[in-house]
Amino acid sequence: MTEEAFDVMVVGSCMTDLVSQAPRLPKAGETIHGHKFFIGFGGKGANQCIQAARLGAKTAMVCKVGKDFFGDNYIRNFKDHGVHTDFVGQTSDAATGAASIIVNDAGENAIVIVAGANMLLGSEELQKALPAISHAKVLVCQLEVSPQTSLQALRMAQENKVKTIFNPAPAIPDLDKDFYRASDVFCCNESEAELLTGSSVTGVEEAHGAGQELLKRGCGAVIITLGPQGCVVLKAQEPASNKHVQTAAVTTVDTTGAGDSFIGALAFYMAHYPTMPLEEMARRANQVAGVSVQAVGTQTSYPFKKDLPAELF
Ligand code: ATP
Repeated sequence: MTEEAFDVMVVGSCMTDLVSQAPRLPKAGETIHGHKFFIGFGGKGANQCIQAARLGAKTAMVCKVGKDFFGDNYIRNFKDHGVHTDFVGQTSDAATGAASIIVNDAGENAIVIVAGANMLLGSEELQKALPAISHAKVLVCQLEVSPQTSLQALRMAQENKVKTIFNPAPAIPDLDKDFYRASDVFCCNESEAELLTGSSVTGVEEAHGAGQELLKRGCGAVIITLGPQGCVVLKAQEPASNKHVQTAAVTTVDTTGAGDSFIGALAFYMAHYPTMPLEEMARRANQVAGVSVQAVGTQTSYPFKKDLPAELF
């Protein structure tokens, strides 16, 4: 058991991205030659944890990987970033989560995700992490592990007055209402907001409408990210203060993982500056995520504290 107080704890997924670049996507039964292959670290939970760690947060990850090469490698990646790994379980019953990705020269892709060990994360691991969760400043969850596990983690945090960020991604229809009630900040992108509300969400005005609808379901605040348009922020305690938080135009190279960079940064700000207005945290998280879209890759594109202007800290 640990009594160490973490700034940010993430209960979520780890995925190894196996990326092949090829002139075109193969047809069924076909074998083609690609021109480049690389392995990347992914999974929404791990991405968010790594971004928070790169900004200087004291982080811990609660997740499950396989007892295999990819699992060992992922644990090394966490350690390299100073992420606490006592709550990273390893199982022989499933392989480390993997995403096999083929990208063609037009930038289109075909992806097979096998969640594997991620789906075996459950109560046992949460109970082991409970002493740490109950002392953390911020807990972050998504939906790439079993929804029951995410909800249980959010409730544990809430019962211990730990701030929660819930990222309902990938979104599922008919999300249990308890997820909203257990979220201090409910943070999603446009397509997730659309699926959850059943209304079209493209642009600032519709995002405000969807945000109001999500807020009514019981969360403390809603943030809907809008790619190059930044995000909207809505707070239950100040219903009249809906804000569109714009972001600076940048030269975009690869937006993969931008949403996770935003959430990791938000978690860092919530932990380090608990009295800062949420709009200001969102403005800063926009800037962090805005840096991530200017380089290739997911975690490889996430900025470290030293790469960012001092005014963000
Ligand atoms: P992804 O699925 O690519 O990880 P997402 O759809 O979950 O991302 P977005 O809303 O596209 O999330 O982006 C999250 C945040 O990243 C935005 O709120 C913004 O701060 C930043 N961002 C994304 N795209 C751009 C861009 N083209 N220019 C500047 N900032 C961007």
